[in-house]
Amino acid sequence: MTLVAPGSVIGILGGGQLGRMLAGAAQRLGFDVDIYCPEEDAPAARVCRQHWKGTYTDAALLAEFARACDVVTLEFENIPVSAAAIIESTGTPLHPGPRSLSMSQDRAEEKAFLNAIGIATAEYRLIDAEADIGPAFAELGAPALLKTRREGYDGKGQAWIRTAQDIAGAWRQVSQVPCVLEAAVPFEREISVLVARSSRGETKTWAPPHNVHLDGILSTSTVPSGLPRDVEHDAREQAIMLVDALGHVGVLALEFFVLPDGTLLANEFAPRVHNSGHWTPEACQTGQFEQHIRAICGWPLGDTRRLFDAEMVNLIGEAGLVEPDHLEPGDVLTLYGKREARPGRKMGHITRRLNPRRD
Ligand code: AMP
Repeated sequence: MTLVAPGSVIGILGGGQLGRMLAGAAQRLGFDVDIYCPEEDAPAARVCRQHWKGTYTDAALLAEFARACDVVTLEFENIPVSAAAIIESTGTPLHPGPRSLSMSQDRAEEKAFLNAIGIATAEYRLIDAEADIGPAFAELGAPALLKTRREGYDGKGQAWIRTAQDIAGAWRQVSQVPCVLEAAVPFEREISVLVARSSRGETKTWAPPHNVHLDGILSTSTVPSGLPRDVEHDAREQAIMLVDALGHVGVLALEFFVLPDGTLLANEFAPRVHNSGHWTPEACQTGQFEQHIRAICGWPLGDTRRLFDAEMVNLIGEAGLVEPDHLEPGDVLTLYGKREARPGRKMGHITRRLNPRRD
């Protein structure tokens, strides 16, 4: 529960846009930021005090980086758990720790953990070989979604199975690695809860945004979600249950499917700041990036009250080649500094503040 004072050095594992925005928030609070990532020209590596360029298996460099920092955090969850162990062995605190990482790296462990603490998910079966798919598909019913247990994101590593004829193709599409087969959820909408838990054990959630995905990639996040208050409250309580059960420190995003009757089924969680929370800095008293820094430094958490209705629009691929002349005066633009626009690549986002809230 160490209090990390302003002026200290925060280390971030990962060099993407989330690291860049975390670095901005940390710098505003008076911290220096070091970034550890393998890429030369990464978005976060260009805004930090020092870029430690190395792989997540380079034990000596990871340890040297950790010793140069007062606290270490991460901006993507596929950091090997072995790298987390190396950081912790230096005595520098790592938030979130290996438990949050390992639980979120494997869809099977993640779902089993969620179910064990009373958070419902879609029905699923474990798939280790092609021969497991037929019986599982028969039990779950059509359609079903085959997802790799590890390293899937933005709809990658997934294949729909609509009839038994799709099985062989789907298995090839996911590269024949261990998977889960999930029943299709006839959801009415998708939401996520951003929650922060500090090293003191304090928790806060934000109003859950309504998330729309296109081709498996988040397209827009809108608040208010349009759901009844009691459903939102339930989702927020479940997210608090999750961070408490994990002993998580930092921000975490828990994604839900919402059925037409308001039933919530958790899809997955990310143990970090999240794209569906990108509207929070502009629309709330405290945004997710600042809150994450407060949480890992043992500071009191900031007020998460929402001051505006808001819509966040992702700029993906060519849409990220923004012509400043075409912006609406009220658009709050964030670009990630990526050198090249590729299809499906997140280049930036726009937040629109809509109605100010008086309550
Ligand atoms: P994921 O990578 O698990 O977040 O999935 C990406 C998107 O695919 C989700 O946000 C949903 O829009 C869709 N999806 C994932 N799992 C299911 C499911 N079991 N039923 C229906 N749609 C799903």
